[in-house]
Amino acid sequence: MLPSAEEFSARVDAIRARIATACQQAGRDPATVELMAVTKTHPPEAALLAAGKGLRSVGENRVQEGASKRALCAAAVPGLRWELIGHLQSNKSRLAAENFDRLQSVDSVKLVRHLARAAAESNRVLAVLLQINAGHDPAKFGAETTDAPALLEAALAEPALRVDGLMTIAPLGATPEETAELARRTFDALRTIRDDLAARFGRPLPELSMGMTGDLEPAVAAGSTIVRVGTALFGAR
Ligand SMILES: *Cc1c(COP(=O)(O)O)cnc(C)c1O
Repeated sequence: MLPSAEEFSARVDAIRARIATACQQAGRDPATVELMAVTKTHPPEAALLAAGKGLRSVGENRVQEGASKRALCAAAVPGLRWELIGHLQSNKSRLAAENFDRLQSVDSVKLVRHLARAAAESNRVLAVLLQINAGHDPAKFGAETTDAPALLEAALAEPALRVDGLMTIAPLGATPEETAELARRTFDALRTIRDDLAARFGRPLPELSMGMTGDLEPAVAAGSTIVRVGTALFGAR
């Protein structure tokens, strides 16, 4: 069940306080970290709660689910941005390109080509993040680190795509301590990969989408600009 607007507001404030503390420790300005509400599996009212509290973007992990919710909410919250954070199959490229403001899970050259064609045909420039499996987790999607340069090169060659930066999900460890250590290493790795790619290709790649309910502090410490939070805002799925 979704929280009341009051309860939701308190939860957002609590997350913002965690972000602010992490920023303070890292010497960062909290205004440089966007809080994205992850509304996947929750009813469309979750997006209305987020917009009502002034959040600017929501994350969905399935194309059809996100598109349906957006259609239901669009009139009520026209300025809200919808972003895809879940794995995307190339046969859903058109639907994804038409229904999301940004795709954070672009992880193959094949997908880049399909998305570029879909965006070009609808006369759009589609914003994307490249998902990198920076924690080398066999259970996670995302391009392998060694494939990142070729993936970026392919995306930069497409005028219908705009590459805003990189996204990753940290692996889970066997213990909380191991999970925390893996998160730190994964987020530091993504930051390094971004810095290397930015220098090599002469592009800033400003966005680093990393950190969720359980690991937003190490993500902010490593330079995250977008934390994707579901559980702490809407409850367990
Ligand atoms: C579900 C999901 C989240 C949110 O995770 P929580 O632990 O619920 O905050 C963030 N990112 C991605 C890619 C997800 O699939």
